[in-house]
Amino acid sequence: MQDSATVVSPQLPKIAWGRGLYLHDTDGKVYLDGSSGPAVYCIGHGNAEVNEAIKAQLDRVAHGYRYSFTSDPLEELTEIITRRCAEGGGEGLERMVFVSGGSEAVESCLKIALQYQSARGAHTRHKFIARQRSWHGNTLGALSCSGFAARREPFEGSLLDVPLLSPVNSYRPPKGVAAEDVAQWCADELEREILRQGPERIAAFIFEPVVGAAGGCVPAPPGYAAKVREICDRYEVVMIADEVMCGSGRCGTWRALQHDGVVPDVMSVAKGLAAGYMPLGAAVYHRRIGEVIEAAHGAVSTGHTFTGHTAACAAGVAVQRIVEREKLVEKVAAEGPLLHRLLGEALEGVEAVGDIRGRGFFQAVELVADRETKEPFPAELQVHLRVRQAALDRGLICYPVGGNVDGRRGDHVILAPPYNVTEAELAEITGRLGEAVRAVVAEVSG
Ligand code: PLP
Repeated sequence: MQDSATVVSPQLPKIAWGRGLYLHDTDGKVYLDGSSGPAVYCIGHGNAEVNEAIKAQLDRVAHGYRYSFTSDPLEELTEIITRRCAEGGGEGLERMVFVSGGSEAVESCLKIALQYQSARGAHTRHKFIARQRSWHGNTLGALSCSGFAARREPFEGSLLDVPLLSPVNSYRPPKGVAAEDVAQWCADELEREILRQGPERIAAFIFEPVVGAAGGCVPAPPGYAAKVREICDRYEVVMIADEVMCGSGRCGTWRALQHDGVVPDVMSVAKGLAAGYMPLGAAVYHRRIGEVIEAAHGAVSTGHTFTGHTAACAAGVAVQRIVEREKLVEKVAAEGPLLHRLLGEALEGVEAVGDIRGRGFFQAVELVADRETKEPFPAELQVHLRVRQAALDRGLICYPVGGNVDGRRGDHVILAPPYNVTEAELAEITGRLGEAVRAVVAEVSG
């Protein structure tokens, strides 16, 4: 997600073609994709095997409407996701609805939680709880759960009433809370809010295991997710993990929450699932949720025309086969620390670097005007957008995030390279970003 004003701009270059980590525009300029676009293109661009799989599916049939047919790609992708979840301790995450992207996946997760509560007779549980500085998508339900003020503002009056808890961020702990107490404090805050609202009114808690587009790769501190799991169990609140950005292997485990040893009730995935070769997302839910819904209502009620789109599922299968065969998630786990180190080295001595953080191939730098006080740069400087431009000038694509910091804009830049990046390319990506950041900091400080 980027500032709406900058999404469609006449100055944007026109995309022509891409291979591997490189994108080419129609003027012949070449860009090294250091962020997989918006953390999507996890096996790079122009992969012939995936293209062939999609073409072969199109030659058979593009789409068999889900309410008339199942299909081989849909069944195989279901099997792959079920197996990948089970291998990482998430046995039972085996029911799923395939949709066209992240927002639809989140929307489906929210509705599955509501339907589950209704199916088990908890008819007053209509409310969601979410967190500030989070991003769950642009549809009204997902936006209602998103703590991203600038994106909410024009629609505020139409959004659901969703209490937004403090961001879970050890670099910027809630006021008066020590960094080492963030996990406990934030979990306690969730429990307090459930009790304040009345547990009988709460359907679900939704959160990103590693915050992406609204905060810049912020992993929750150790222990937080397990505490949330306990609280959700205690109050019969559905736990929804939004893994649209941080999942599908990006953080070095197939599920991001796998790192914490925690299994959600419901989980959204999208970006890396079909790696941008087709629009595809999924709402994945646990068998025990499915069984309750099926007993009461027959099936989940979240369908769309393109639910389970056959060619999109074929793309997902082809991508996931490559990710599995080439052990790319294991590669991300092994090389994440290298990306982190190279980023640190490239930014060595830059006073404006407040924090470098992330997990796997999901790393970000937060830039600040004052490292001591963590004071952000003035919003009007748009430092994150300047870095994006300076990076583009150097032929690098990175992902700028203008997150809301204590009511003001903050500046973060995400690197999320394709999983099949080489070590030399990692060095090139971080080196170019280092140059871009230095140039921008000199410009705004000078
Ligand atoms: N959830 C998370 C965590 C995201 O990062 C995003 C997009 O950035 C979404 C949901 C929405 O996904 P989409 O843009 O595909 O609708």
